[in-house]
Amino acid sequence: MRWWRSHSVRVQLTLWYVGAMIVVLAVYAAAILAYVSRSASAALDQQLRADFQWAAAIVEQTPEGGITWNGEDTAEEVRPWLQVWSPDGELLYRNDLAIEGAMPGRDLLNLADDTIVAIPTADVPLRVLSRRGQIASKPVVIQVGRSEGPMRQQLRDVVLILLLGLPLAVATAGLGGYTVASHALAPIERMTERARTINADRLSDRLPVINPDNEMGRLATVFNATLGRLEASFDQMRRFTADASHELRTPLTAIRSVGEVGLRIRRDEAAYRAIIGSMLEEVDRLAGLVDRLLMLSRAETGQAKLSLETVSLVELAESVAADLAVLAEEKTQLVIIEPQGSPHAPGDRLMLRQALINLVDNAIKFSSSGSRITVRVFESAEQAIVDVVDSGPGIPSEARAHIFDRFFRAPSASSEAGGTGLGLSIAKSAVEANGGTLTLERSGADGSTFRISVPRG
Ligand code: ADP
Repeated sequence: MRWWRSHSVRVQLTLWYVGAMIVVLAVYAAAILAYVSRSASAALDQQLRADFQWAAAIVEQTPEGGITWNGEDTAEEVRPWLQVWSPDGELLYRNDLAIEGAMPGRDLLNLADDTIVAIPTADVPLRVLSRRGQIASKPVVIQVGRSEGPMRQQLRDVVLILLLGLPLAVATAGLGGYTVASHALAPIERMTERARTINADRLSDRLPVINPDNEMGRLATVFNATLGRLEASFDQMRRFTADASHELRTPLTAIRSVGEVGLRIRRDEAAYRAIIGSMLEEVDRLAGLVDRLLMLSRAETGQAKLSLETVSLVELAESVAADLAVLAEEKTQLVIIEPQGSPHAPGDRLMLRQALINLVDNAIKFSSSGSRITVRVFESAEQAIVDVVDSGPGIPSEARAHIFDRFFRAPSASSEAGGTGLGLSIAKSAVEANGGTLTLERSGADGSTFRISVPRG
């Protein structure tokens, strides 16, 4: 097994091919040999029967009233060996070939009637047909024989041809198999070479896809798709690390500068308390940011464990509105729920709640005082839908493509509202973890509509 594995696929394929070829050719050769041998043997038997007719035809009456055979006219090569017996075992005739070839005499007397047997002789095996007959109304036993030599020679020739042909065919098959295997595996070699050069810094490289419809092409395509995903997650990780460290720096710098300023001169206790208080505020902000980042990365890497239940979206919207009522009141805003039917969806209540909280929180944050925020809950044939509609300033068209990116804040809105730029990305990941989608349905000067749609229960 180890020996087998130590060889390349190309060699293994070739060996398989050669092995299969040897088996097929051996079976084929055996079949040919069996066929040739059987038909040569049948032809010889046929010939012996014809010889019997010949022997009966060349009978001549002797002047003394006896009988004799005269086959001398027939060419020697086509004449059989012939001997004729009387029923009581007297040798009546033996032709010259039988005498020369020392055709067994008395030994053949006991042959059953009308049988063909192979008799071993000193030189070559002899095949003999023994049959009773009536010649000039006398009963006789006629025995015709022929050497099996030519037949055996013919078979030896066939064996020789097959034996010579077999290695030739196997060698040709092996060479052909190796060439075909090399040719078929060449794209893999090329892919291996290329894949070897692809590392973390060159993830944008792709394998060559020569024919996307064959196995190699499909392999390259799948590999390329994997590379694409790897590249995307590397990029995401890089961006995430850069963004996160940038965002974490701000509260850290604030804590540091508050501390430094506090230590610059001697102060009374109240002043120190105020300084520590504002440092703790920043620490809270930092902790909140870290929590949100953790939540986001768990949701995105699919580590967040979903506890699935059937969630009533109307109840969910009502509880979110109740929770955020204080924030809305501060801005004299009104959060109104508009339910149509009672859509339910299987999902993780807490994750869906977090998503909706972020949307309503944004709507409150970015809309002017005194405005109204509507949460519409309804369902389509397959989806349960929650729309959060506000009458805020809308999202500038150039920012729309980025609002779901981490840490993105539209330039005008962010300064006064002061978010982290993580709310929408967290909401999106949470909805997607539940098999749904979060989209910006509409945004204009009169407000925006964000839509959560999840598969209905
Ligand atoms: P933030 O923590 O800043 O709210 P989000 O990811 O929730 O971060 O939002 C990203 C940006 O999208 C916000 O800074 C804001 O510019 C814009 N945005 C989100 N929701 C709204 C909304 N309802 N109206 C106007 N702009 C919005």
